[in-house]
Amino acid sequence: AFLSTYGLTKQDLAGLLPAPRQLGQEKASLVMLVRNSELNDALKSIRMMEDRFNHHYRYPWTFLNDEPFTPEFINYTTGMASGKTQYGLIEKDQWSIPTHIDQEKVQKNMEEMVSKNVIYAGSMSYRHMCRYNSGFFYRHPLLAEYDWYWRVEPGVEYFCDLQYDPFTFLKDHNKVYGFVMSMYEYDVTISSLWDHTKDFIRDHPEYLAADNSLDFFVDGHSPSREGDTEIDGKYNLCHFWSNFEIADLRFWRSKAYTDYFEYLDKQGGFFYERWGDAPIHSLAAGLFLPKSQIHHFGDIGYRHPPYSRCPQDEESHTSGRCYCSRKEHFDDDGYSCLPRWWKVAGQSFGSGIKKQD
Ligand code: GDP
Ligand code: MN
Repeated sequence: AFLSTYGLTKQDLAGLLPAPRQLGQEKASLVMLVRNSELNDALKSIRMMEDRFNHHYRYPWTFLNDEPFTPEFINYTTGMASGKTQYGLIEKDQWSIPTHIDQEKVQKNMEEMVSKNVIYAGSMSYRHMCRYNSGFFYRHPLLAEYDWYWRVEPGVEYFCDLQYDPFTFLKDHNKVYGFVMSMYEYDVTISSLWDHTKDFIRDHPEYLAADNSLDFFVDGHSPSREGDTEIDGKYNLCHFWSNFEIADLRFWRSKAYTDYFEYLDKQGGFFYERWGDAPIHSLAAGLFLPKSQIHHFGDIGYRHPPYSRCPQDEESHTSGRCYCSRKEHFDDDGYSCLPRWWKVAGQSFGSGIKKQD
């Protein structure tokens, strides 16, 4: 209908529109957990994702929400998506405080965290969100038919054309988890997470991968060896920033991760503390997978406020593939854990080091 607004008919355009490239071949979906009130930011993310990548592949979009999506949200997002769209409501018990949780303790701990000015300290919905992203999104019935997902958040930016299918890339290279940025978590939000993780591994040494990423999580740790059955040392708080993830849903659905999530959920730290899905996903990927199955997408330019990263190599810019400021670059920032990742995994070094002025 919009074409006729401008005096153009379908016949006028017949033969003039570009032929679609090969559509996406993987069982994959773009996934966005989002509130109705975030519609504009959602559209911004969708527009950029479509322009930089998805208009060629037309992968479906799955939107998830703890409240029903409004007709307005559905109309605008479906209008912008190149692939099919689906809208899921989250089950109440996956977005509420489980019965084994001591609510008084939750209140008390929340107040204490608020007094320390920790971000989202006083927000209960933030805690539900983190728990949902940790333990439930990959079990949503709308995602049952998919093996892969790309997590997209409202209000993010993608700066570079992606000229290949990252799902196929991960699949062909036997990789499971892809990220772009890495940083330190706020200590007080996960004070007991590492100890619980240690206990879990002690109970389940069989889940600890040979060539895991312990030397990424623990400063001065030597590379892990085949036959290691325990994790030791002090967690340095490094994690993969989970607002961007391209990963294999089957990893989260695995016995190892299911047991890990259930164990953590019993401890109550999503509510007594403010455990984020980022450190939980990261510790699971870093401990249950060999390093070689974790991939840093150094060729993707990305912004989630307040941080951006931009490929630093000449070719990404002279080719016109990327539009971002090479100076606004988080990879080798003092708060970034990527230099540590390069050291232990030796990946994407060249595209990450900021060019000197
Ligand atoms: P931050 O990135 O840690 O600052 O947290 P965000 O506010 O960006 O939340 C992370 C993701 O969860 C985003 O995709 C949000 O849209 C989504 N989200 C956060 N809180 C809620 C909520 O209460 N309901 C819904 N449906 N989505 C939420
Ligand atoms: Mn966010």
